[in-house]
Order: sequence, then structure tokens, then C-alpha cells
Amino acid sequence: MASQDAAPKLYAAQEPIFPKRVKGPFRNFKWALMIFTLGVYYITPWIRWDRGPSLPDQAVLVDLANRRFFFFWIEIWPHEFYFVAGLLIMAGLGLFLFTSALGRVWCGYACPQTVWTDLFYTVERWIEGDRNARLRLWKQKWDFRKWRLRVTKWIVWLLIAVATGGAWVFYFADAPTLLRDLLTGQAAFVAYATVGILTATTFIFGGFAREQICIYACPWPRIQAAMMDEHTITVAYRDWRGEPRGKGKKRREMAEAAIESSRLAGPTIRGTEPGATSAPEVEAPGDCIDCMACVNVCPMGIDIRDGQQMECITCALCIDACDEIMDKVGKPRGLIDYLALTDEANERAGNTKVPVMRHILRPRTLIYTALWSAIGVGLIVALFIRSEIDLTVAQVRNPQFVTLSDGSVRNTYDIRIRNMTAADATFRIGLTSDDVLRVDLEGSQDLMVEVPADETLLQRVYVIARPEDAASGRERTDFRFWVEEFGTEERAFGDTTFFGRGQQ
Ligand code: SF4
Ligand code: SF4
Repeated sequence: MASQDAAPKLYAAQEPIFPKRVKGPFRNFKWALMIFTLGVYYITPWIRWDRGPSLPDQAVLVDLANRRFFFFWIEIWPHEFYFVAGLLIMAGLGLFLFTSALGRVWCGYACPQTVWTDLFYTVERWIEGDRNARLRLWKQKWDFRKWRLRVTKWIVWLLIAVATGGAWVFYFADAPTLLRDLLTGQAAFVAYATVGILTATTFIFGGFAREQICIYACPWPRIQAAMMDEHTITVAYRDWRGEPRGKGKKRREMAEAAIESSRLAGPTIRGTEPGATSAPEVEAPGDCIDCMACVNVCPMGIDIRDGQQMECITCALCIDACDEIMDKVGKPRGLIDYLALTDEANERAGNTKVPVMRHILRPRTLIYTALWSAIGVGLIVALFIRSEIDLTVAQVRNPQFVTLSDGSVRNTYDIRIRNMTAADATFRIGLTSDDVLRVDLEGSQDLMVEVPADETLLQRVYVIARPEDAASGRERTDFRFWVEEFGTEERAFGDTTFFGRGQQ
């Protein structure tokens, strides 16, 4: 049977794409952003930041061993994970905001897959030449020259990939020390494995898979489509201005036919007025000269003139390419442009273009901005009002209480005191309660404990109610542990419960 009913293929074999070099403001912006993002990525782990003798002097460090995150003067402890959660929510909202306002700008300019693929294309162009040279090389047989160019390109790609994988691990350990350990074979296996995996993924994703990652592996194109609406600015072709397209002889014939048609139609417009002839209408050619410059520069290998496509990452290189052509043929720029869907109906009706800011400033984007700002302000406030000491209390529940030989009831707690300052500190432990409860520390007579700088102390604490105290016979009594830093006003507390014999 013929395969008329066969299911459509979910994957189309990769067609090699050879994007042509292009010049223009969007390309320049992409260069600037590429230099900035790569610079930040490679340089950041090498920035030093003096935090005192007991703390690492790396400005940005994810200290997994001690479960800390250092970001310049900010140190995030594990119990402050809400800061990280807040930043992740802000990143998500930021993406919603940019996507609803400007479409897939993240994909087109800042996504690591885009940035590294762009870098790999640049290397390819340096070594193998621009589009036509690369096309010829791709089609020709494997001779010495082809091998030489290919191997040179792969070596440069590999060096970039190693540097990329290498830079990542420096965020997780002291960079100079780790570099020395990596080079002398003394680093941990996990460091080599991480560098190896990231080198391989960068080399394959940036060098070979390229746009296939965006089309098949990345969920963002599908998710982002749901965030866009008819006011979202995205790259589009003004087909009402460009069509019918044509080039060379065909274009000349179209123009001549249009002149002839209008001559036959007489002075009336489109044969709608009384006395009009029934001469056939032929449209004059539009501004698109069908030069394919927009298609040849597209890193996704699509033709924007076919309308909005999921593959388009709105990188705007086709705008640069087309504007250059429009300049050459003496037509206004903007045949391909950043547009909203609503612009189409508006401009077809002969109205002027709506200013971009009118599209961007709308309720949806303003709500995202307000939420983003509120979380940002909340995090900043939380950062400045947070205490530098902290306490968590965990009750030992097995057994829930112990009856001592004199009839007293004793509960046991493990309290964790965090000294988040850069100096050693002494803390006094106490409690507040409506009942008379006594505190005993394991290994300390005076209720004082020392906690080194930037350390956590786990201290076992006993709370005792004498037989005559109401708490000893009551089922449960709420109270509060306090720790107070000796010599300062700094205090922290943790609420918990005392269990008495009323349980039985
Ligand atoms: S169609 Fe234009 S904007 Fe879209 S990916 Fe291709 S070059 Fe970039
Ligand atoms: S670059 Fe402009 S003129 Fe050339 S094919 Fe594309 S849209 Fe038409």
C-alpha cells in the first residue's frame, strides 16, 4: 500500500546551513552581547574578593562542600535558600517579561546555545571562508585541503570547548588552586569528569547539532509561544509591501505588465468607478527583489518571508541583510522589521507604524515588571535586615521525654547556631517560657558556647522541669530558645515545645 496514511515524520534530517556574513546594527549588537556574555562567563571566577582570613577570597563561588554561595559581599547559607529561589523566580519573570514584549530575544541574543553556535560559526568562517566557499568545500571530495581546513576548525572548536568546560568548574572551587590541580593531575575525578562532559557537549552542540538543539531539544520555543500575543514585537516580513516579489527579467516583465494593465484600465482606479474598463489587473512588483539575502544569513535556515515560524529565534540578522539590499536598490529600509501582529492590519489599512513603546507598555508587561520589581525589592530588603546569627532547633523525639531519679522531666534538643560573621563569637543560650524550665548544655557549665567565624555549631541541650513545676505534669508547654552574642546586641531565637508526663 502506498504510504498515504503514514504518520508524518517527527524529525527531518539535518540540512547543512551555511549562514553568510552580515553587517548591520543588529549584528553589531550581537557581537557586543557575545563579547560581554563570554567575558563574564570566563573572567568571573578569577575575580578576587577579600572577606577576611576565614573565608574564601573568590568573588563568585558555589562552595558545595560547605553548602554556601558567595557573590561578592553577599554570602548565602543553606537556610537562606529563599534568596536563590527568589532569584530563580525573578529570572523566570524576566524571561516572561522579555518574551511577551520582544518575543524570543533571549534565544536570539543571550542563550548559551546561540552564543556558542555563533562563536563556532565565526571560527568556521575565518578558517573555511564565507558561505559560498563553505558550500563549495562541503560539496567537494575529501582531499588534503579539505582535511586541513576541517581539522584546523575542529581543533579550534575543541580548544573553545575545553575552555568552556574548564571555566565552569572554577565556579565551584578556588580557581587558581583548581587550575594548578587540573594541570598537575591532582584535581578530583568529578572535576575532570565535569570538564570532559561540558567539553563534549559544547563541541557537539555548538559545532554540529547547532540549530537542531533549538528545534528539537529545547522546550523554550514551545513555552515561549504561549507567552506571546498579537502585540509582541517579533521579526516579520512586510509582505504587503514586498509582494509580489520578483527579480531580474521576471521583475521587469511584472513591471511592464503592471504599466500595460494600468494603461488599459484608463484613468480609473482598479476598475471600480463608473465607466471603468474590464481590463485585467496586474500588480506592480513589490519591494522584495527575491535576492535571498535574508535566507542566506539566517542561522536557522528559514525564509522569514514564509511568515512566523517556530524556528525563528528573532536574531534580526535578516533585518540587517535586507536593509542593506534596500539601501542598494534605493527603497526604504524595514521590509523585514521588528513588528507586532497588530501592525499588519494597521499598516495594510495605510496607517503609520505604531511606536514600539506602545506595544511594549501594556498591562501584561507592566504586571510582569511590577511582580519582578516587588520580588527584587523584597530580596534586597531581606538581605539588609537579615541577622548575622541564626538558630534552628530540632527536638530529639525518641524518647520524647525522660523522667529522672528525682522525678524531674527532661527533654533533649539539638540546636544549630550559625555564626555568619567573619569573627569568632561567644553565644549565651537561654529560654523564655511562662513555666519554670531549666537549661543544661552538654559539655558547658555556664550556658556559653564558642562558634568560630563563618561556622555552624551543633549543640545538644537539655531542658528540665522539676516535679513541682507545672510543665512536668502538663502534656505540652511551648517555649522559645534564645542565643545572644556575647558583647553585642545580636540575638536569634527558635520556638519549640516541652513534653511532660501528661503525654502518658
Ligand atoms: S528568520 Fe531572521 S530573525 Fe529569524 S532566525 Fe532567521 S535571521 Fe534570525
Ligand atoms: S533580503 Fe529583502 S529583498 Fe532580498 S529576498 Fe529577503 S526580503 Fe526580499
